[in-house]
Amino acid sequence: MKIPLLDLKAQLESLRNEVIPALLSVVESQHFIMGEAVGKLETEVARLSHARFGVGCASGTDALLLSLKALDLKPGDEVITTTFTFFATAGAIHNAGGRPVFVDIEPGTFNLDLDQVEAAITSRTRAIVPVHLFGQMVPMERLLALASGHGLAVIEDAAQAIGARQRVKGEWRMAGELGTTGAFSFFPSKNLGAWGDGGMIVTQDAALATRLAKLRTHGGAKEYDHEEVGFNSRLDTLQAAVLLAKIPHLTEWNAARRSRAACYTEGLAGVNGVTAPVTHPDNEHIFHQYTIRAERRDELQGHLKAGGIGTKVYYPKPLHQQSCFGYLRYPAGRFPQAERAAREVLSLPVYPELSDAACEGVIDAIREFYA
Ligand SMILES: *Cc1c(COP(=O)(O)O)cnc(C)c1O
Repeated sequence: MKIPLLDLKAQLESLRNEVIPALLSVVESQHFIMGEAVGKLETEVARLSHARFGVGCASGTDALLLSLKALDLKPGDEVITTTFTFFATAGAIHNAGGRPVFVDIEPGTFNLDLDQVEAAITSRTRAIVPVHLFGQMVPMERLLALASGHGLAVIEDAAQAIGARQRVKGEWRMAGELGTTGAFSFFPSKNLGAWGDGGMIVTQDAALATRLAKLRTHGGAKEYDHEEVGFNSRLDTLQAAVLLAKIPHLTEWNAARRSRAACYTEGLAGVNGVTAPVTHPDNEHIFHQYTIRAERRDELQGHLKAGGIGTKVYYPKPLHQQSCFGYLRYPAGRFPQAERAAREVLSLPVYPELSDAACEGVIDAIREFYA
């Protein structure tokens, strides 16, 4: 049995008749820039995230970049984030003029360690960028208390977590709901994927939403009238139309991912050499990735590949070890949990269309390797 890491063609089959007509109607309108679908999607994503405003933009990276630009960072201003994330998180901090300050992760959830966030706050800190890694939210109550105690902005990197939620004081709160802004990515492989690049920022703050909408179109609210220098970072209307057709399915898809994850966790229990990912009891995880720790990880990956099973290492090199961040002068060994995770993690196939048989096939192949 061939089991790819991700099978977007399986989703296409179930959606073709909803997405193609939506695309054709954009083509008929010839309204490709800021067409009707963009505003509609902004409303839908804001609703999903319990946010007042949604601002579409060109990618998840730009959702972070625009959010950080709106902080008007000065040279030397620090922004705290995790070293164990996709590159864009820290790249956006750098490109917004901030100095990335990395912290290590909690070994169970792979999310940033809040004790270390607290210890990293200085008089130059302006913001924290928590990453809801692999689809599980960072503990927001404690993070927000830390941030508000020091007057810091919180830019949620929710690129992997659209639709994830967390019980805070007994109430469900969505990824992106509680931060200064939340940044989503519609990269095709994300839980809500476009047919190209796309992103969105959500916020509760009306003035900030207006500023962000300006920043995404060259810094002017009116055409040919520029109050500041912004960017060209709009969400394409064709992509918005694809996403509008897909978004009604997201809750059901995320639940299907959770059930695939439960199948793995049950099937891998008791396999010596494998540690299943930990879900915090207050979280509803959406399993953008199902990521185990594995002894002899590279050999296991080779064994699975030989059996036709796709896997991937997210992430093989923590950001403090990337040569482009050499100027930050973090020595090797500075963040031992992240460095260890980079050696041990392996993400298994997880998507709504993954069959029970495929899930069992992956489990059997892993059991066989450690037998
Ligand atoms: C995908 C991703 C991004 C960037 O999103 P793009 O849409 O690819 O620009 C940022 N942060 C994290 C954690 C991501 O996984």
